[in-house]
Amino acid sequence: MIICALCLIWHLVLENLSKTYVSVLIPLAIPKVYDYSVPTALIESVLFGVRVEVGLKNKLYSGLIIAIREGEKPAYPVKDIVSILDTAPIIAQKQLDLWKWIASYYCCSLGEVMSVALPSGLKLSSESKIILAHDNVIPFEELNDDEFLLAEALELRNEIPLYDVQEILQKKTIYPTIRSLMSKGVAILKEELKQKYKAKLVPYVQLGKQFQDDEGMHKALDLATRSEKQTKAILAYLSLEKKGEDLRKKSIMETADVSAAVIKALVDKGVFLIEQREESRLKRKLNTVDEIPALSDLQENVFNQIKELETQKRKPILLHGITGSGKTLIYIKRIEEIIQAGGQVLYLLPEIGLTTQITQRMKDVFSDSVEVYHSKISNNERVEIWKKVKKDLPVVLGARSSLFLPFKNLQLIIVDEEHDSSYKQSDPAPRYHARDTAIFLAQQHQATILLGSATPSLESFRNVEEEKFYKVELLERFGGLELPEIQLIDLNKAFKQGRMKGMFSKELLAEIHAVTQNREQVIIFQNRRGYSPVFRCGVCEWYSECTNCDVKLTVHNRFNELRCHYCGKREKLPKHCPRCGSQELAKLGFGTEKIEDELSSLLPELRIKRLDYDTAKTRAAFEKILTDFELGKIDVLVGTQMITKGLDFDNISLVGILNADKTINFPDFRAHERAFQLFTQVSGRAGRKNKKGRMFIQTFTPTHPVILETIDNNISRFLTRELIERQRFKYPPYFRLIYILLKHKKPEIVRDAAEIFAKELRKEMGNRVLGPTEPGIARVRGLYQRVITIKLEKDTKIMRKIKEIILDKRGLMKNSDGYKSVRINIDVDPQ
Ligand code: ADP
Ligand code: ZN
Ligand code: ZN
Repeated sequence: MIICALCLIWHLVLENLSKTYVSVLIPLAIPKVYDYSVPTALIESVLFGVRVEVGLKNKLYSGLIIAIREGEKPAYPVKDIVSILDTAPIIAQKQLDLWKWIASYYCCSLGEVMSVALPSGLKLSSESKIILAHDNVIPFEELNDDEFLLAEALELRNEIPLYDVQEILQKKTIYPTIRSLMSKGVAILKEELKQKYKAKLVPYVQLGKQFQDDEGMHKALDLATRSEKQTKAILAYLSLEKKGEDLRKKSIMETADVSAAVIKALVDKGVFLIEQREESRLKRKLNTVDEIPALSDLQENVFNQIKELETQKRKPILLHGITGSGKTLIYIKRIEEIIQAGGQVLYLLPEIGLTTQITQRMKDVFSDSVEVYHSKISNNERVEIWKKVKKDLPVVLGARSSLFLPFKNLQLIIVDEEHDSSYKQSDPAPRYHARDTAIFLAQQHQATILLGSATPSLESFRNVEEEKFYKVELLERFGGLELPEIQLIDLNKAFKQGRMKGMFSKELLAEIHAVTQNREQVIIFQNRRGYSPVFRCGVCEWYSECTNCDVKLTVHNRFNELRCHYCGKREKLPKHCPRCGSQELAKLGFGTEKIEDELSSLLPELRIKRLDYDTAKTRAAFEKILTDFELGKIDVLVGTQMITKGLDFDNISLVGILNADKTINFPDFRAHERAFQLFTQVSGRAGRKNKKGRMFIQTFTPTHPVILETIDNNISRFLTRELIERQRFKYPPYFRLIYILLKHKKPEIVRDAAEIFAKELRKEMGNRVLGPTEPGIARVRGLYQRVITIKLEKDTKIMRKIKEIILDKRGLMKNSDGYKSVRINIDVDPQ
């Protein structure tokens, strides 16, 4: 008895002591990281950063081990991990630390960060299957039609994923059938994790063992004597081997000019063996590397300043260089030096899909050493780049998600066009800003960070003032090129005096005509796509509105449709007013489509193309338009702000902004900053070698300070004025903002929830809480919205405290009856 009791105690002690527990991060928006126990058989393979298969709420997930603990049992019951998926870690501690910083700064869960950080090829998805129950004869006579169909399919295939079941049954609701098949003992349900990444396998040929020496070769040729084709295949193998070329099955077939059947015959005889080898999908052309031009004296000077600053205190360096000054060349020079010394470089661009020119330039210079990483490349390619970066890839040119790549020896980060608001992710969480996250990443790696722009953000200018950033300036265009001369057209006068044709003033039209006569090119900017933004009945004043959102539908003539730019809803363009039946329907206002049409009828001899979201939906379409423009096949390019991004052509001598006022008067505290940046960037497209370009700005407010500052290219006047306003009204860069957006399908619920939430916040945060207010568009995608704005001082401690309060109160809200289903998004540093 005594011994037994001891045994029992000993056993208990052992069980508690010897256990290993791991914390597993799962890519879901759940607030917690769960612990799992490790079965003895797997203990050896447990490592930080490897993926494991775990169960959570009856589903299987692949998660990452982010902590390992020996001994004490967690307070709640834990499950075993099911399996370990990697032999080596796929992330290092540094990556996890970055994820943790993002989760905490941007108020989201670590799982949400993980889900954007890992390429989806590295995340596994749970897949449910039904499988045939063992040892059972299927009682076909007892089954109804659906059950019969499915059982029959199961008998053939043994296992069927659920999405195939829908196909087989030709219906959406499949669970009753599955359930009854299960109760009749025919099928069981199984969860399985599916690897999304598939290595690309290529068949290679080898000689069988006994055929590898000279004697063996004779034997092999003997075996093939009666087939000329098989002999040719063996000889092709030998000749390729001798030349040291690769021995792919395909190369042998091509060299010998034989079919796969011939190879197979040789495999059957044991002469050839087939080996499947993994091959990279990252395509390589062996191009000659372009020579990098020498820096001009001025550029050299800036380059040296940057290098000098790099040796001082670690601070981000702001490179304020006007359009065409040669910023890109300076980046390239610095990248070249870093990679020669064995370092890695991350070159960030906003919306990389729109920057084929720079991508090409980098590939021409760095060839194999650079890869492009963004969300438009395939899942498999992303996994391959991930692995290459982990090994030693020198340069990544990427969109914001490339911040998450597993860099080993990152020494330089370039954030090009640092002012661009598309660096901020708006939905879903994590709502992170790539520039600011890059600053954290640089600190982590002790790397240099260079922020470049012709029109830096006010945040960055302010950081220079506060000596948090260094600044270097490059304020001359390369080759002595001058900035364009800007001409204002006062639309009030022009309309009054009848000098307008549609949206074009006579002066602008004349200039377009003159310039294109000269075989030079023109860009026309209009910040709105579609044909016209309003479709209205002239009799009853009905106008077309979206049924899901509180916005008007835009007319798209080319598609003969009305479209919502917020939810994507489309409907046929009605011929009669749906309310009164009248045919007096008017298309009011101007989008790029209408501008294109108008210009075509005013100057019919011109070749006009449009560049916007509708014409450049695919990368190929986008590139086609750019190439045509570059080759001079297009005289005038009409576009949205897509035309301001990364376009560098040297034959544009005129740019026109048809209506500057919409941009300036946009209801947002950053509207003036955006307008100034946009106009300056657009003007930067004009100007050719040895000839000054021109820009026309049409506006109803010709004396607006932003317009005057643009004309004078007076960034410091703009800065001084705008910074005073920001300070006075407590906006960034002097104060921080957090927006809390509440959404619900019932307007009264979201209204009450927002009131309660704001009141709760106000109790602890006082007058830092503003609102709730109805945002400019009160309903989007069927959900009513309210926004609460938090304005707070720039103080890390206060900031942290306030985020805690917000998260706390959100938690309470989420647990209260009645408001559970209200969505509450937190946006820190909104753009
Ligand atoms: P930014 O990025 O500042 O707008 P780029 O680096 O694109 O400017 O330079 C503008 C143009 O001038 C490009 O066509 C580039 O090739 C050319 N360029 C700039 N610097 C030099 C140089 N040192 N030698 C030759 N060409 C240069
Ligand atoms: Zn009507
Ligand atoms: Zn809509």
